[in-house]
Amino acid sequence: MNYSRAFVPTLREVPAEAELISHRLLLRAGFMRKLASGVYSWLPLGHRVVQKVAAIVREENNRAGGQELLLPALHPRELWDETGRSAVDVIFRLKDRNERDLVLGMTHEEVITDIVRGEVRSYRQLPLMLYQIQTKFRDEPRPRGGVIRGREFLMHDCYSFHTSQESLDETYRQMYVCYGRILKRLGLDFQVVEAESGSIGGSVSHEYMIVVDSGEDTILLCDSCTYAANAERCEIGQGADGEAFEPDPVKLVQTPGRRTIDEVTDFLEVPAEKMIKTLIYETGGGEVVVGLVRGDRDLNEAKLARALGGAKVALASPETIEKLTGAPVGFAGPQGLKGAKIIADGELRNGGNWVSGANEADAHILNINEGRDFSVDQWADLRVATGGDSCPRCSGTLVEKHGVEAGHIFKLGTKYSAAMGATYLDANGAGQTIIMGTYGFGVTRAVAAMAEQMADADGLLWPISVAPYEAVLLCLNVEEDGALAAKLCDELEAAGVSVLYDDRAERAGVKFKDADLIGIPIQIVVGRSAKDGKVEMRVRGRSEKKEVALSHAAAEAAALKDALLAELDGAADAVRPGV
Ligand code: ATP
Ligand code: MG
Repeated sequence: MNYSRAFVPTLREVPAEAELISHRLLLRAGFMRKLASGVYSWLPLGHRVVQKVAAIVREENNRAGGQELLLPALHPRELWDETGRSAVDVIFRLKDRNERDLVLGMTHEEVITDIVRGEVRSYRQLPLMLYQIQTKFRDEPRPRGGVIRGREFLMHDCYSFHTSQESLDETYRQMYVCYGRILKRLGLDFQVVEAESGSIGGSVSHEYMIVVDSGEDTILLCDSCTYAANAERCEIGQGADGEAFEPDPVKLVQTPGRRTIDEVTDFLEVPAEKMIKTLIYETGGGEVVVGLVRGDRDLNEAKLARALGGAKVALASPETIEKLTGAPVGFAGPQGLKGAKIIADGELRNGGNWVSGANEADAHILNINEGRDFSVDQWADLRVATGGDSCPRCSGTLVEKHGVEAGHIFKLGTKYSAAMGATYLDANGAGQTIIMGTYGFGVTRAVAAMAEQMADADGLLWPISVAPYEAVLLCLNVEEDGALAAKLCDELEAAGVSVLYDDRAERAGVKFKDADLIGIPIQIVVGRSAKDGKVEMRVRGRSEKKEVALSHAAAEAAALKDALLAELDGAADAVRPGV
């Protein structure tokens, strides 16, 4: 491709709203443009990268035994009513001309389960693994980072169907490796973490996190074993016992208008870790439950729900809180509460003489102790894990990092098949519910994650596997050396190296800057020594330069391409199932 003909609208200035480096660079280098909040167009260079990522995803999913299909983006709402998911907040809803309700697909469990329930009759047709690479729509409350969190994005979604848990486990292991291999072929550093299943449902799930400081997800990694989990999911180990203390007498103090932990700690000049945070919940069954965590901690609602045997929990209404505590919201404490179960985070066993709300307006209470002033009905691991907490698997300490979720794999079980009546006849002719797995990978998000993790001060830095072109040929004096460069260009293409030939009448400095910004991995410079039959070759982001004979340049570039690909493939081949 000749640069002079290429549609590569680079920018000097990028919109101030683009905070992430990946967002800025993808705009600046002319890879994409914004149409609306969370909605982006892919321009030719960006589109080439997206297509190459999709091709790798396809290759790897085929290798894992998947069969590709393509499902519609437009769904009748009734299908989503069957699983109760038509009420999910991010789903786009619309009506057709006949006032029929439709939704835009945010994922495709319902649609694929509908197909399978219609077509699969016998255990002989299972297991089955079906996937697609398709546009998804989600009305995200906070679109962010360009295509990292878009409202329209390209996703790979794969679904597996089984007659036994063992068969699901086997496919899950294959997909665990499949996603790892994809990310390694994209040159990405990632961490697989145990994850919460969210609105998709199911029990076991893992996320593939691209570790970058700008990541929205908090993950915790043990400093001495392989335990790694999303903070939403992360369990916490026992930890060391707290220091012994002498119980002091209880004291009521006035705290007019001070409701939040921050307001109370400021006013009373006590540290937040001396406070008890009292959070009042209602379960789906109408039970009132009081959750206690240390003042400097956050309660993890998923943990609370699990500790209550899988109950649905939601923060109680002000009326319920007032009825239980006898005080307005903001002054609750665990002492003297009647008719509610008290469930406390294990950490509150360490220490005492706590400060909490007094269960009366504008007052707090000092020096309350478990056993003497309040009792706990159930102890549990209830708080959101943070760096410094103990590992739940060994005596190590958890370290906190940030990540962008690139992929998510779930063992769904029968949640969707049971709700939608997807069954098969077993070998004895008895009807059984199909067991399912689901696997999702963000294709466009992965492109942004690469830009986020691999860019440098000069611009983007694509791995050879997905670069828009494998080589960029910079002809510094087109008038003199244009013919020679055009010939090399043809040779490169013939040798299987795709090339962007910078034939523009621009200064050398401009060409170098643009080449670095666009981030094509192999840079070939036809400069002064072209007359002596020599060109310069280097890899973007690496310092070594090499002078090579013009006559060998295409072969050398092809060999370099193979070597760079082999580095990535080697890393992919080293991926092992971690489950
Ligand atoms: P997140 O927690 O980031 O919102 P999710 O848990 O909702 O993601 P899944 O439903 O598991 O995402 O979707 C599978 C994959 O699709 C994710 O791992 C991610 O790579 C991608 N993805 C999800 N939402 C978006 C989005 N709004 N924009 C771009 N990619 C997305
Ligand atoms: Mg997820």
